[in-house]
Amino acid sequence: MQTDSNNYDVIILGAGASGLMCALTAAQRGRRVLVLEKANKVGKKILMSGGGRCNFTNHFVGAENFISNNSHFCKAALNRYTQWDFIGMVERYQIPYEERRHSQLFCLNSAKDILNMLLDECANAGAEIRSHAELVSVSTAEPNDASSSRYQLVVNQQNTAHEFTCESLVVATGALSIPTLGGSGIGYDIAQQFGLKLTKRHAGLVPFMFSDSMKQLCEKLAGLALEVELSANKISFTENILFTHRGISGPAALQVSNYWNPGDTITLDLLPGVNAAEWLLNAKQNQTKNLLRTVLSHKLSKGLVAELQWLWWHEHAEKPMAEFSDKQLISIGERLNSWQLKPSGTEGYRTAEVTRGGVDTAGISSKTMEAKDQAGLYFIGEVLDVTGWLGGFNFQWAWSSEYSAGLAV
Ligand SMILES: Cc1cc2nc3c(=O)[nH]c(=O)nc-3n(C[C@H](O)[C@H](O)[C@H](O)COP(=O)(O)OP(=O)(O)OC[C@H]3O[C@@H](n4cnc5c(N)ncnc54)[C@H](O)[C@@H]3O)c2cc1C
Repeated sequence: MQTDSNNYDVIILGAGASGLMCALTAAQRGRRVLVLEKANKVGKKILMSGGGRCNFTNHFVGAENFISNNSHFCKAALNRYTQWDFIGMVERYQIPYEERRHSQLFCLNSAKDILNMLLDECANAGAEIRSHAELVSVSTAEPNDASSSRYQLVVNQQNTAHEFTCESLVVATGALSIPTLGGSGIGYDIAQQFGLKLTKRHAGLVPFMFSDSMKQLCEKLAGLALEVELSANKISFTENILFTHRGISGPAALQVSNYWNPGDTITLDLLPGVNAAEWLLNAKQNQTKNLLRTVLSHKLSKGLVAELQWLWWHEHAEKPMAEFSDKQLISIGERLNSWQLKPSGTEGYRTAEVTRGGVDTAGISSKTMEAKDQAGLYFIGEVLDVTGWLGGFNFQWAWSSEYSAGLAV
């Protein structure tokens, strides 16, 4: 392999959402910036996000939309660069967008609009971006009179080893989710190399799987979507779920997966906002001759009701409502409002939208994203132990955390 040498003020590892934003912020301040991206293309997750329309932020963003060992850590960055700042840039570029349910903002045309905007801003500010550039090693360099470089990098670019030095090194390499879109653990390795701690990591915003009879039920209902209230560890979301061949997906399942740990049960309320026991007792008075499945079919799909009948009252399938005891109806009503399920696991990093956990924020300045005990080393975006809900919050964290770093590097 041949070698060459280059010095920059700032080197950013990873040309995803946070890396590109950091590059433009730092370059606009006049810093000499290089972004190194291991993949053949930059911003792959941006392009895939939001079903190709990129849910780039949300009208309402607060610390309560994020999960972290330190729930206060994200506040300074979120206040410094808000959703309105990013929306302002989107509007300056005249990118058409729409507000969907739960105040989520999506591109009307394509996620490409967001990526092109970031690339334009990088180009205008003079940030250099190299793809096919994978980090081989990083070590500290001794600053001297001739150079203020603190870090020395060896990078493999198409079988050539390039050496770079920089004053500030920003780790924006994302996390473990979807390896085919660039997910990697390199950011954690760098953190550990420099003595930073990691929190436990799990796949987040990810579908649930089942291995027992529930798996068979899910297979039969695959494709069915319905609005439910789904909860884990006392956190609830009222949204759609989608039955799949492996288990349950859909927004409510993805949201709840962020709060679920292996072995926990989840609680499914199939009739949110309805006291199902009371409703069934009323139906016993008013629809005396109807079958229970007929009554339920007014609120739930016939396929789902058939499966519930098999599980909960198949011996009484042909009995009219009037012949059910109150106790039986109350018990069925309670299960409709509070169905306890035990997932065997999640689909894991292969399909997860994010990684929950990451570089422990205890070692990071919340004002600048710099490692407290390692001058010039910064961590931004998903590599940190800050995980957003579904709804544009993960991109907002990328934009906000990069901005704090972009002003400091
Ligand atoms: C399918 C999907 C859809 C999503 N949709 C949304 C959505 O609509 N809204 C939302 O808010 N969030 C969404 N997310 C989450 C969001 O994409 C991430 O939270 C966000 O991209 C994180 O930004 P990041 O810059 O930290 O990491 P990334 O965007 O993952 O960027 C990291 C970059 O680092 C590169 N890299 C990795 N290792 C190296 C290395 N060794 N050397 C050099 N480069 C390296 C990677 O190739 C990648 O380009 C979605 C995620 C997925 C997977």
